[in-house]
Amino acid sequence: MAAEDLLTQADELDARAFASAHPETLRRQAAELRAQALGEKPYPVLICGECFCLTGWLDGSGVCAGDAWRRREHAGGGFMDVRDLRAGYEAPERPAWERARRALGIPNRRDRRREWLRQVVPDETGPIDPEDAWEIEAATKHERQAPEGVHLLVQFDVRSLHFERGTWMPIDVSRHGKPRTLVPRTFSAALRIDALAEAWNDFGEEVAAHNRAIWQAEAAARDARSRAAAERRDAEELERGTDRLLG
Ligand SMILES: [Zn+2]
Repeated sequence: MAAEDLLTQADELDARAFASAHPETLRRQAAELRAQALGEKPYPVLICGECFCLTGWLDGSGVCAGDAWRRREHAGGGFMDVRDLRAGYEAPERPAWERARRALGIPNRRDRRREWLRQVVPDETGPIDPEDAWEIEAATKHERQAPEGVHLLVQFDVRSLHFERGTWMPIDVSRHGKPRTLVPRTFSAALRIDALAEAWNDFGEEVAAHNRAIWQAEAAARDARSRAAAERRDAEELERGTDRLLG
């Protein structure tokens, strides 16, 4: 069955689970279909026993990191990790002179373009030229302590960014919302490096596909608008020409 059909089926099962007195079986089946849609991967694709998300890491009781943290918090005992789960957006280091010029509010055109290209593949995931107020989703990753044991987890996330005065600024909510992704977002940092790299690559590709779809729709809308404007101009010219002939 095609991945798209599997995902449609999974959504239907989730919808049925919502109205069911025993939703667990249906939600697990939905998660299994999503794992199937993702296909064979070199990284673990597991199902959380509590929220039924796809994850690359489960604790000893079979739940994902998010649920493991919540359970520990709920139990109220011991060490509590209250750090923000979302990955921070870190602007890259800039040379001092550049920082000084920015502090004075004088970014030049080349800086603006370079900053734009850090997130946008021109005419693929966004407009060719930098545009203020353009929004994009960026895949991020960071490491954090696992809820149990001494090892670290690698956590993927999606950050919404907004282009403003020559800089990408993180925002909480973007116009088009966050992409829906299938690739698990949490893995043990001890996983084989090539497996981790492939997971990161797959995740980035899902985020890029979301950005591509938004730009494709926007580019089509802009094309249609400029075609309509050109047709209006032609019609007006024709009308003026007819007036001249009749006058
Ligand atoms: Zn969970």
